[in-house]
Amino acid sequence: MVQTAQVAVSGANFSFDRLYTYRLPAALCGRVFPGSMVLVPFGRASRARMGVVLELREEKDDPRFKEIYDAAPESSRLTGELMELVRFLKERTFCTWYEAVKAVIPYGAQYKAGTENGRPVLKKGITRHTEDEYTLPAPLPEKPKPGKKQALAASVLADGPKTASQLAALGISRPVLENMCAKGLLTRRKVDRATELSARPLPPAQPVELSADQQAVYEGLAALLDGKAHAALLHGVTGSGKTLVFLQLLRRTLEQGRKALVLVPEIGLTPQMILRLRQHFGSRVAVQHSALSNTERLLQWNEIQSGGADIVVGTRSAIFAPLENIGLIVIDEEQEHTYHSESSPRYSAHEVASQRAAAHGALLLLASATPSTETYYAAQSGRIRLFELPRRYAGTPLPSVRLVDMRAELSSGNATSLSAALREELAANLAAGQQSILLLNRRGYQTVAMCTECGEVLKCTGCSVPMVYHKAEEKLLCHYCGHSIHPAPAQCPACGGRLRYTGFGTQRVEEELEEAFPSARILRMDLDTTGKKDAHEILLGRFAAGEYDIMLGTQMVAKGLDFEKVTLVGVLGIDQMLFAQGFRSCETVFSLVTQVVGRSGRAATPGRALIQTVDPDNPVLCLAAAQDYPAFYRQEIAFRRLNLYPPFCTICMALFHGEKEHETLAAAARFGALLARLAAKTPGLPLRILGPAPMAVAMVNGRYRYKLTIKCRAGKQTRALLAAALDAYTNEGLAGKASLALDFHSDADL
Ligand code: ADP
Ligand code: ZN
Repeated sequence: MVQTAQVAVSGANFSFDRLYTYRLPAALCGRVFPGSMVLVPFGRASRARMGVVLELREEKDDPRFKEIYDAAPESSRLTGELMELVRFLKERTFCTWYEAVKAVIPYGAQYKAGTENGRPVLKKGITRHTEDEYTLPAPLPEKPKPGKKQALAASVLADGPKTASQLAALGISRPVLENMCAKGLLTRRKVDRATELSARPLPPAQPVELSADQQAVYEGLAALLDGKAHAALLHGVTGSGKTLVFLQLLRRTLEQGRKALVLVPEIGLTPQMILRLRQHFGSRVAVQHSALSNTERLLQWNEIQSGGADIVVGTRSAIFAPLENIGLIVIDEEQEHTYHSESSPRYSAHEVASQRAAAHGALLLLASATPSTETYYAAQSGRIRLFELPRRYAGTPLPSVRLVDMRAELSSGNATSLSAALREELAANLAAGQQSILLLNRRGYQTVAMCTECGEVLKCTGCSVPMVYHKAEEKLLCHYCGHSIHPAPAQCPACGGRLRYTGFGTQRVEEELEEAFPSARILRMDLDTTGKKDAHEILLGRFAAGEYDIMLGTQMVAKGLDFEKVTLVGVLGIDQMLFAQGFRSCETVFSLVTQVVGRSGRAATPGRALIQTVDPDNPVLCLAAAQDYPAFYRQEIAFRRLNLYPPFCTICMALFHGEKEHETLAAAARFGALLARLAAKTPGLPLRILGPAPMAVAMVNGRYRYKLTIKCRAGKQTRALLAAALDAYTNEGLAGKASLALDFHSDADL
């Protein structure tokens, strides 16, 4: 008998995914555990690959067993609870073992493959990381007159020191900084990124005093911090002070000697949340989101794993933070689609959170002004607890909202993207020294190039979407694959006719704003301006400090932000979202509009909002304008029930990607047939297969995309059926023709 380990090895694909058996060499006996990270030989050439041990066994030796090369120390192993999550992901999402492992441990955390004396070994990953930090010791002298970049650097650094990478994100390059150092205008020092992150001094937090409404909700929720698993929804209108309630619950959790996880939907919402948490809870707050550099992320991960953090805040993947003794998990803006992973493993943060809350005896708190229909249904039907904050804090009224008819605007001769009404309101806000936020969910300058002869729209060669004109770089860009054409053509590639550029994106609206309000200070927030690390946080900080009058941006300006001087919100170009596919499209529009409108008038001065549309009678827009969630919910739940959508069933999307269109379509049809045949053997199990049909974007990166929509009931039986159909699909050699992924939208994530 020998000691063996069942290992999930990196790099397997679905069709030959399994656990591999390895023998433990004598030197590693007693040093390898379930959850250990190991390095193993793989394939004919016995190349070194990373792996994680799922299970240890005693079994009869087999000459085919290879020996593990190396194992990381015990201190770095995954806890039993995280190993359970790996199994959970594998079982629920049909991902590969290692995909599940990678979701739980970020790649390169702690150990990576290396060689020593010609032997493959595990080497320590990240340890520390230093960076240059620049400080402005005194205001710049007026003479000699500083250059534009110098003045920008000085104005940014006036708030406090910044690192080279933060400054680079704002377009201030190393030579500019070094030049200023040489002249004695700036000073430079090395900082340790890990300690710098957690030790940045912050203004102390104002002590929190809850209003009577908030206090009542807090007490109800605090009673659920009793060591048993609970789930609750906090439904509170925008500006009702949900964050304040979280802060008090977090405090209570830490007092109980327990830890907490706070999830936010996107990095855009993280800076304000992190700031608030750091003000209240100091350096024991760790951050996990994808905009951190790999190094920062791993440093913080290690900090969490070694017990150095009490609160972890981050985006979806932070749900896997290696915290122990969790007492509270908060999912803020819980309806956001970003909580659902769009690559394997395709999990939703809710289901993982629910799993972890059960394992830890924690309270899972979902919060939103516009909860998802599924979650609100769960609350209505008593499956989870419901708490409501129906009023804004301090009696501040909700903003007054007006729908502006853009058809009337066009027929009266205004072909720009800004209606007369919006121009007036913007002017009024500028005159009053107040700030405005404009939402336009399309970046770039002009969004379509159409041929005036043949009527053809210029599309990406690899993707079935129009190319978008970006004026600053004079290029056409595909927002799906990044393919660009430079310079932007004037002639149609199909017939040589003249191309006409139309539609408007954030760059173009920025230009119209500059023309209309030459003195206004305009901040554009989209992927093009915030792509670089930290840029987002710094720009929001500058808006908060009053350095801008108007913030114009995509989704990232719509949610979670809390600026007291914002009293006007404008929604531009929402119409195309009204006609989007998918059973959640109404909910998405309702939520987006309600959220962005909710950024207005959150403090002393009442706010207002304008929604520009060509369909001012649209029921979803009208309800969003009225900010009437209950009415929206009643309408939406009736629609879901009638058409059989979640929460009345689970939807499993089977997604097929392939090089050749007919093969992809045929593979999708075959999978449907296989599944139907298997399902016929289990009469009574609800299952309905729709399709195949092309996906909303039918081609990306030269790969065709088809889908089957499977309406079913989540559970063991259905999963067994799907697993059998997947096996049959692979056995028939179809996986080579079209890759297949399953994507669940469940009736019961909670
Ligand atoms: P929500 O997350 O529900 O949209 P916030 O928690 O951001 O709302 O609160 C909205 C605004 O009201 C914030 O500026 C917040 O500081 C303020 N506020 C809410 N409750 C209180 C309170 N109890 N004391 C002081 N300020 C509060
Ligand atoms: Zn493309």
